Amino acid sequence: MKTGYLIDMDGVIYRENSLIPGAADFVDALLGTGTPFLFLTNNSAPTPEDLAVRLKHLGIGGLSPRHFYTSAMNTADFLSETHPNCTVFVLGEGGLLTALNQQRIANDAIRPDYVVVGEGSASMEKLAKAHECIERGARLLATNPDNWCPVSAEKTRPGAGATAAYLEASSGRRAYYLGKPNGYMFQRARRRLGEPGNRTPEQVVMIGDTMETDIRGAVESGMLGYLVLSGSTQLEHVGDYVYQPSRILDTVGDLTAEVLGIADPKEPQAPGQLNPSPHSGRLGTRHQTDILAFHTPRPRPAMTK
Ligand SMILES: [Mg+2]
Repeated sequence: MKTGYLIDMDGVIYRENSLIPGAADFVDALLGTGTPFLFLTNNSAPTPEDLAVRLKHLGIGGLSPRHFYTSAMNTADFLSETHPNCTVFVLGEGGLLTALNQQRIANDAIRPDYVVVGEGSASMEKLAKAHECIERGARLLATNPDNWCPVSAEKTRPGAGATAAYLEASSGRRAYYLGKPNGYMFQRARRRLGEPGNRTPEQVVMIGDTMETDIRGAVESGMLGYLVLSGSTQLEHVGDYVYQPSRILDTVGDLTAEVLGIADPKEPQAPGQLNPSPHSGRLGTRHQTDILAFHTPRPRPAMTK
């Protein structure tokens, strides 16, 4: 059975500016065996070209833009499919502007159909403009629901979800959030795995380090969800979630032998076997997309994407 892989980046392939041990060999194995795979990120700021260069500098070569799918590309796919010829007012950066442009979605600062919110610092002037557009009837769309994003082990920055929340508060309108864990992100990514050059995979595995986005989206999309412990989630917290990963790995390097065909895939673990301590007592940890955790003390940054 040919397996296709959707792979989160931050916390799975690298953390900050360091590769996670075994990640380079894993990607080499995917490339060498012609295994279908796609890097899946909620970060709407970079273009696929930017991401290929970033991984090259980190020591992973042989990748091209077609190996990446961002929430910005997902947003552009969504709009071009559901509302051809729509217009948008954008709060975002190069990756989002490029993705929308490639789908021939026009910018409109007067009476757009949508205000599209992505990563990036929005000036008060642009926020006010977006607010006015929404008051004139524009619908509010965010590339992803992440309220904050990691910058380093000790530092975060506001994410697209936080900017969208500002506009939700000012306008009284609710945003629609694309990106992980939205099923549309997973559905389009699965479709890309089977595009020319790749055989359609028999099954699809999402590999990620974040329960709320990677594993939740996999479960809701009928994929296998493999949690790696090299990023934001610690083993003792897994039992706090209603949805559970199919497998838990230390790093993606644990899958290299399977991809090369020199090890049998392990049977997915039953959720009950995953965590000996299902209630860790750590409820209230601040999650990227969990507004209920908003008023809890801010812990050391842990969530990545
Ligand atoms: Mg991650």
